[in-house]
Amino acid sequence: MNPGARLLILGKQGAGKGTQALRLSRHYVVPHISTGDTLRQAIRSGSELGREARRYLDSGELVPDQIVIGMVRERLTRPDTSHRGFVLDGFPRTVAQAEALSTILSPKGLHLAIDLEIDTTSVLTRLAGRRVCADCGANYSVVDNPPRVPGLCDVCGGEVVQRDDDTEAAIRRRLELYERETAPLIAWYDSRGLLARIDALGSPDAVTERVVAVVDRRILRRPGS
Ligand code: AMP
Repeated sequence: MNPGARLLILGKQGAGKGTQALRLSRHYVVPHISTGDTLRQAIRSGSELGREARRYLDSGELVPDQIVIGMVRERLTRPDTSHRGFVLDGFPRTVAQAEALSTILSPKGLHLAIDLEIDTTSVLTRLAGRRVCADCGANYSVVDNPPRVPGLCDVCGGEVVQRDDDTEAAIRRRLELYERETAPLIAWYDSRGLLARIDALGSPDAVTERVVAVVDRRILRRPGS
């Protein structure tokens, strides 16, 4: 029996959050909740949320807390996540979001916040080669993980493209915001006994193995929680 898990992934842009979140969601059979994917879908659909969010994403700025917190609250109160759990990817990104998340999840709380550790030089190389499926959000790399058929997603057959915000200026801005707004969350979760630091270098398989070993140990220590 696979008990599910309540996890979130921290890490710089290009650390492999999306790739690992998707793999962990399959492993623990829980939804993968990516605020970036949800916002990009909203932009594609032309909804009011999408129209509002577009300028933030294009410039690499953070979408205001109350918008993303509302999105995540709505998703986390649906039965699939409240019952089996979730893998959050790209949320929280600010201390205000982390505080809101802890209220939303109360009294169950998280099993673990996983920090994918990587140096800035490595992420700049990864981001330059990053490609993403415009439909399902699966990640690829022109360097070491291209789709089997060029330009088409292995998972859903959608179009594989470079993200609009993977420009040099937007990447620089996102890394700055990461250091200022998101990096403090590492200490925030650590002080609550909820942080696991994982080396994000190496193959996606090797990184997943490291994460699963740590998560399984944590879930076994708190069975039924
Ligand atoms: P990502 O796909 O996680 O890199 O997110 C892409 C963009 O979506 C970010 O650069 C932000 O503009 C926006 N975004 C995603 N998640 C959040 C969040 N938790 N808080 C604020 N903005 C976010």
